[in-house]
Amino acid sequence: MPLDLFPFWILRRSNRYPGKLMTMSFLNLSAAIYSISTAVFLLSLTQTVVHYSLHFLFPGLVAWLFFRRQWKRAWLIMLTTMLVDMDHLLATPLFDPERCSIGFHPLHSYPAIAVYTILLLIPRLRIVAVGLLLHMLTDFQDCCWMNWLK
Ligand SMILES: [Zn+2]
Repeated sequence: MPLDLFPFWILRRSNRYPGKLMTMSFLNLSAAIYSISTAVFLLSLTQTVVHYSLHFLFPGLVAWLFFRRQWKRAWLIMLTTMLVDMDHLLATPLFDPERCSIGFHPLHSYPAIAVYTILLLIPRLRIVAVGLLLHMLTDFQDCCWMNWLK
């Protein structure tokens, strides 16, 4: 049953009961469930907006702030680091919204993150390293949302 229809389902059922008190308690219950489900829905929506903004827009801001002379190129390179998500192809199931990528997928593992940190020291690979580390931070904050919304 879709989340938003749930309170109306309760409302329709409550009409069957003649007692006003019974109807009131059903209404209060449906209002409470409705506000909780709306809050959870809005938080999930916020999580999604934050996630994709951090993946696509935030690297643009970082590129503009720290790689100003070639910020468009830097932004494009950082967007290309999204390819690390190819390691999801090795997982079964391929996509699981409840799964935290960090520490699970090989290119999202802690040793991999250590390598990305070392890459920061190599000037030619610095933009790639920043892109990869921003990606890991984005996925990590998503895990925090998941644990919080559970
Ligand atoms: Zn990822």
